[in-house]
Amino acid sequence: MVPHEDPIAEDDLPPLDAVRARIARAAERAGRKAAAVELIAISKTQPVDAITPLIAAGHLSFGENRVQEAQGKWPALKAATPGLRLHHVGQLQSNKAEDAVRLFDVIHGVDRPSLVAALTAAMARVGRRPDCFIQVNIGDEDQKGGCAIADLPALLAAARGGDLPVIGLMAVPPADTEAAPYFALLAKLARDNGLSGLSIGMSGDYETAVMLGATHVRVGTALFGARAG
Ligand SMILES: *Cc1c(COP(=O)(O)O)cnc(C)c1O
Repeated sequence: MVPHEDPIAEDDLPPLDAVRARIARAAERAGRKAAAVELIAISKTQPVDAITPLIAAGHLSFGENRVQEAQGKWPALKAATPGLRLHHVGQLQSNKAEDAVRLFDVIHGVDRPSLVAALTAAMARVGRRPDCFIQVNIGDEDQKGGCAIADLPALLAAARGGDLPVIGLMAVPPADTEAAPYFALLAKLARDNGLSGLSIGMSGDYETAVMLGATHVRVGTALFGARAG
């Protein structure tokens, strides 16, 4: 956690402005430019009515974790909003690969050879090539998505061989532990593999992620409030 030693003036701001201000401050502390960090508003479970105020405020980057839900919410919003970028985060079933390639601009959960194959075929069929992140199971957890660290080189080679536009690595560290060491490990893996993109940081730890090199932070609760259910 980044210590919030100052009385936080950002807390009086609307959530989008507050998160932006915190990203800017974390970037500045790390000698980075805030513009190098894409804030992805994770709008899963949120109704369109909760999304449109952010678009009206000029926010253009959003993320969803379910293809079907996104198909219901986003085609009209995308058509009406030039420059909007839609990210798929989390587990992606191979049989949803083609739908995902049609709708999303970035796919963060590429984590196994069968999905690489499905995405490669879907991109050829559809004629769209969304940017991809390889998801790494950075805490070596049993039930977590992501490829094992040991499998990363082979999976990356398969993705590059399939001509997927791989731009970086993504991870979700273990819950209820200090995220920073996992973020740092993912950053090292990205460097070692010649990748500049780093999709790390959620509502509880995005400032830490920005200080450790995140190029994409995935923030839901801090922007929209707690999800129902
Ligand atoms: C839901 C989700 C997020 C956002 O989580 P918050 O804690 O609400 O910010 C980020 N990444 C992934 C993969 C998610 O599924």
